[in-house]
Amino acid sequence: MRPFAYARADSAESAVRALSEAGPGVKVLAGGTTLYDLMKLDIEAPTSVVDVHRVPELSYIDTSGDELVFGAGARMADMAEDPVVRNEYPMLSESLWRAASEQLRIMATAGGNLLQRTRCAYFRGGEPYACNKRNPGSGCAAIGGADRGNALFGISDSCAAVYPGDWPIALIALDTEVDILGPDGERTIPLAELHREPGDRPEVETTLRPDELILRIRVRKTPAGRGSAYVKVRDRESYAFALASAAVAVAVEPTGVVTDARIGIGGVATRPWRVPAAEQALIGQPLTPESMRHAGEVAYQGARPGTHNVFKVELGIRVVADALRIAGERAAR
Ligand SMILES: Cc1cc2nc3c(=O)[nH]c(=O)nc-3n(C[C@H](O)[C@H](O)[C@H](O)COP(=O)(O)OP(=O)(O)OC[C@H]3O[C@@H](n4cnc5c(N)ncnc54)[C@H](O)[C@@H]3O)c2cc1C
Repeated sequence: MRPFAYARADSAESAVRALSEAGPGVKVLAGGTTLYDLMKLDIEAPTSVVDVHRVPELSYIDTSGDELVFGAGARMADMAEDPVVRNEYPMLSESLWRAASEQLRIMATAGGNLLQRTRCAYFRGGEPYACNKRNPGSGCAAIGGADRGNALFGISDSCAAVYPGDWPIALIALDTEVDILGPDGERTIPLAELHREPGDRPEVETTLRPDELILRIRVRKTPAGRGSAYVKVRDRESYAFALASAAVAVAVEPTGVVTDARIGIGGVATRPWRVPAAEQALIGQPLTPESMRHAGEVAYQGARPGTHNVFKVELGIRVVADALRIAGERAAR
């Protein structure tokens, strides 16, 4: 790890001031569960960090209004266990507790979770692997290489690295906004505008500037939350990233017809990926094995597999159908 300067902020405003003063080599430090890893691997080499882990105004969860509000410093474990989140938005709770390990979830924060970086082996493997994300212009050894983990959606000729997070897959399926503080004040963006597809600049992963701080994440409440589920398939049942996942929420009439559907898919795209066409395919239909399978097939239309990740298409379709089955049972209770 390279030497770096450390500053601890006691408020969001002082953090942004410190970020601006430090210049472009600065990084926000929250739980450190992924930033420190990447620094040890020499993939991240900030000249300074601004520690926001103990900023009280960032560390809260408020579910009392018409939105679920997660301060950027809220811990994954606390969000997963929050009674409103657990009972009324099981997809959010499940996506959190199926991620990482309890020790990590106690340290890791909402803001850091959104901004975690790909687990692509070529990105994390360092030299001698070509990786446009780690070393812009060097090429992509994953494309045409050992591509079992590669993304199927949002890929470019420069990069096919999967966005690895679970919770943001559930967030993207709901109407989620992110409040950001910068030197010029606060701004709000839809979560869908936070992460970038790689295009020809895979190293630029978000629309966040180095001197900006995520303040909070807000999810508009919806009755579909109760009929929701997060299904994650991975190589082992715990402590592993998704091969394919689906976050779904449905509202169903007493007749059994779907009136609202939200679907996000994970482990298969370069950023959190919502599939509106699959949602539309369900609305007005009853939830049957055929309609759930069809929604999965629509979700995976346009997938661009390589050589060793073709299996993710059928797997992903089944994961969507399975999540819909569980969500449908919950919606009917
Ligand atoms: C072994 C292991 C297994 C894991 N498994 C999973 C898994 O299965 N599923 C999953 O989803 N995740 C998994 N994770 C990732 C884990 O969820 C992240 O490490 C964690 O959420 C990051 O949060 P943090 O607070 O520690 O972030 P940090 O490491 O402190 O920061 C991460 C990034 O976010 C930036 N950042 C943090 N807060 C802010 C803010 N408020 N504003 C602006 N920028 C900010 C930092 O600058 C940094 O770039 C795993 C991690 C490990 C180490």
